[in-house]
Amino acid sequence: MAKIQAPINKNEYYDVTFEDLTHEGAGVAKIDGFPIFVPDALPTEKGKIKIVNVKKGFAFGRLIELHEESKDRTNAPCPIYKQCGGCQLQHLSYQGQLDFKQKQVREVLARIGKLDMERVKVHPTLGMNDPWNYRNKAQVPVGEREGGLVAGFYQQRSHEIIDMEKCLIQQSENDNIVQAAKEICQKYGVKAYNEPKHNGWLRHIMVRYGIITKEVMIVFVTKTDDFPHKSSIIAELTEKFPTIKSVVQNINPKRTNVIFGDQTKVLWGEEYIYDYIGDIKFAISARSFYQVNPEQTKVLYNKALEYADLTGEESVIDAYCGIGTISLFLAQKAKRVFGVEIVPEAIEDAKRNAELNGIANAKFAVGEAEVVIPKWYQEGNKADVIVVDPPRKGCDESLLKTILKMKPMRVVYVSCNPATLARDLQVLEQGGYTTVEVQPVDMFPHTVHVEAVVKIMLKEGN
Ligand code: SAH
Repeated sequence: MAKIQAPINKNEYYDVTFEDLTHEGAGVAKIDGFPIFVPDALPTEKGKIKIVNVKKGFAFGRLIELHEESKDRTNAPCPIYKQCGGCQLQHLSYQGQLDFKQKQVREVLARIGKLDMERVKVHPTLGMNDPWNYRNKAQVPVGEREGGLVAGFYQQRSHEIIDMEKCLIQQSENDNIVQAAKEICQKYGVKAYNEPKHNGWLRHIMVRYGIITKEVMIVFVTKTDDFPHKSSIIAELTEKFPTIKSVVQNINPKRTNVIFGDQTKVLWGEEYIYDYIGDIKFAISARSFYQVNPEQTKVLYNKALEYADLTGEESVIDAYCGIGTISLFLAQKAKRVFGVEIVPEAIEDAKRNAELNGIANAKFAVGEAEVVIPKWYQEGNKADVIVVDPPRKGCDESLLKTILKMKPMRVVYVSCNPATLARDLQVLEQGGYTTVEVQPVDMFPHTVHVEAVVKIMLKEGN
């Protein structure tokens, strides 16, 4: 095939109009049909760009000057927005973000899933009333600059740690505790870990906050298992923040950018903090997975529960169940729920959480969903409803095939990646299911992450 000649050259300037936004939040302009991705630009805007990199079928550009602004453009309120890279959409109004996420889901389902979008309804994204300070977990690397401790984030594409006093999507209690921990550690001469040299001691600080219970856990991730000035540091911190219920040390001696090591010990207070999603109480340990935006998680799971349409008589499978969050939600309305998850510790948490809430009709199994569920099917077990909440890569094909054989009346698909969702829906549609409706939920305001829950029903006669 003849190589397509890019109609543009590196380092040259062009005046363009932006037509679209990529799933990574960059503006898309086209020159003779050739797409150029430009961060910070929004659809409908016009401006001057400089081409910085030309690839085979596309190029990257930098916005030099805006000539016409979108009506949805807003000033990103965070002063370190561009350096950090944690948020990608702060320059787009919140309503603009919600519209973008809805459109993204609709387009991907049409393009990749080949679904008939006249039939499949994609609802407007359910957003937050106040889309700030929503994260319940702060996890920051610690470094040193001119002898002082800094804690914040790695500058994009580097190992340099930028100090951060405040993150606008973070619970302010978390920011305050990180700040105080940094100051107190500094006072006692604590040495930060140095990644290139692999020396020093304090690697990361993690803080978790129960938004309902107001209980806090702080975790110090350190290179070695000692803790200089332990009693004084803990006394000062817990005195200043009575919300702290648990102080934990995790030891990571390895030369790695993985945050946690294998050894975890409670230094002070409890092993767990507690929080609620809806009426369900969760015990959260230092290493447990827990949703970072519990307020929206409740919205998402209530939608999943609504789409499952339970009467109390159903057997339900919750595939990729994590610590059993969705399973326990469903168990309140189903006859029985079976959760499957690959991480053994998560299943231990799920069992503990079931017990904590007095829920006896939820059972949990460790294993791969695509292995465990086919086995259940072979043993003659059936499900009326199957809920799946897979990681970004979507469901394994053998799981989808088993679903087609098991023929549950309804499938509820919770997805964090519209592309794999679309691919999997196509398989289900070809196997006798119909996609009824799709509800995007904004779990991570100001970022490009898109979460959606889908109601899928077995067609009559199948
Ligand atoms: N439903 C849970 C977790 C969803 S995240 C919640 O809402 O909290 C996806 C989960 O799938 C993770 O816990 C991950 O460990 C698990 N997972 C990944 N691959 C898996 C597989 N092949 N089989 C079962 N679980 C898997």
